[in-house]
Amino acid sequence: MKLTFPHMGNTYIPVKAMLDDLGVNCIIPPFNNKKALEIGTKLAPELACLPLKINLGNFIQAYEMGADSILMTGGCGPCRFGYYCEMHREILSDMGVDMKVITLDIPGNDYNKLLNNVREITGGLNIYKILKAVKNTVEVSKKVDELERLTFKIRPREIHKGATDKIYRSFLYSILKIKGSRNIKKHIDKARNKLLEIQTDKEMKPIRVGIVGEIYTTNDPYSNLYIESRLGNEGIEVTRPVTVSGWIIDHMIKKALHLKGDERYKEAAKPYLGTMIGGHSQETIGNTVLFAKDGYDGVVQIFPLGCMPEIVSESILPSIERDFKIPVMSLIIDEMTGEAGYMTRVEAFIDLLKRRREIDAFEGKGMLSWN
Ligand code: SF4
Repeated sequence: MKLTFPHMGNTYIPVKAMLDDLGVNCIIPPFNNKKALEIGTKLAPELACLPLKINLGNFIQAYEMGADSILMTGGCGPCRFGYYCEMHREILSDMGVDMKVITLDIPGNDYNKLLNNVREITGGLNIYKILKAVKNTVEVSKKVDELERLTFKIRPREIHKGATDKIYRSFLYSILKIKGSRNIKKHIDKARNKLLEIQTDKEMKPIRVGIVGEIYTTNDPYSNLYIESRLGNEGIEVTRPVTVSGWIIDHMIKKALHLKGDERYKEAAKPYLGTMIGGHSQETIGNTVLFAKDGYDGVVQIFPLGCMPEIVSESILPSIERDFKIPVMSLIIDEMTGEAGYMTRVEAFIDLLKRRREIDAFEGKGMLSWN
C-alpha cells in the first residue's frame, strides 16, 4: 500500500512521523500549488468548499507519483466536512482514478470500524506499537506548532528582514527527507535553535492581530496567500489559536476518549453563539472575544467562499466589533481570489490598526470605524 493524505499547512509533518513509525509507505503530494487547485476546481462541483478542491488536486498529484490509497479523517455535524470522504470516493471513481479512500473516523461507542481501518493501514494490530506512534505524533504536532508560534514572535521583531522566512521555509522542505518521529523531533529542535539565533529588537511592541476562521484556510499558507508571513514582515505579531496539534489532540484523540479539551472559547462565545454549528465557528466567535479582552489590536477572519459555519460567524462578528471596540476584517478565499485585491484590503487594515495605535498614544483609547 502506498498511502497519501491531503495537505493542510503543517499537518504533513506529524502524519508523516506517524506513518514512518508504523512502517507505512507514504507519498506526500507536492506542496499546495496552482496546479493542484486547478485540477480540483475542474473535478469538484462548483459550489464545493475550497479545501475539498485542493484535496482532490493533492490526490491526483500523489496518484501520478504512485500513491494507491488515501488517508482521510471523517467528520459529522452540520457542515459539509462529513461528506468529504464519500465525495472524494465518488469523484475519483467517476474519473477512473483507482484509489482506495480509508477514513479514520471518531467513533461514538463502536470502535470496530476504526480498528479495522487501522489494521488495514498498518497491516496488523500491534496495540503497543500503535499507541507509541500516536504518542509520538502528538509530541511532533505540539513541537511543530511551537515552532510556528516562534516564527510569529520573531518575524515582526527581526532586525534583518526575511531571516525568519528563510530558516522556516528551508525547514518545511528539508523535513520531507527526514524519517521517523525521533529524527523529525531532532530536526524541529535544530530549526528552533536557528530561529532563536536571529537578531531581534527586544524593545519592540508590535501590533497584535488574532487569526480566526475555518481551520483549513487559516492553517494553510497557500490558501490564505501567506497572510501570517506577510503580516509578520509588516511588523505585526499574529496569534492563531486553531492549530494542527489542537485538532489532533482535542478534536480527534480527546473526542475519541470522551475527554474534555480546552473549552475557554465556548464560554466566551456563549452570549453570541451558544452551540456548535459545524466547522470552527464557535472557536471563531469565542476566540475573537478572548482576543478583544486580551487587548489585541485587531482580528482577521479567514474562510472559504460558501463555508456555512463561517458565514454565520461573519454575521455575528460585527456585534463583537461594536461591543469590544476591536476592528475585525473578514477575508473570503476561493479559486478566483486575486492577490492584488486581497493585499489591498490587508494593507488598508494594517494602516487602520497603525492609525489606531497612534490615536491611542496621543488621545487615549479611540475607535475608527473599519466598516
Ligand atoms: S468548515 Fe466550511 S469549508 Fe470546511 S467543510 Fe465545513 S463548510 Fe466546508
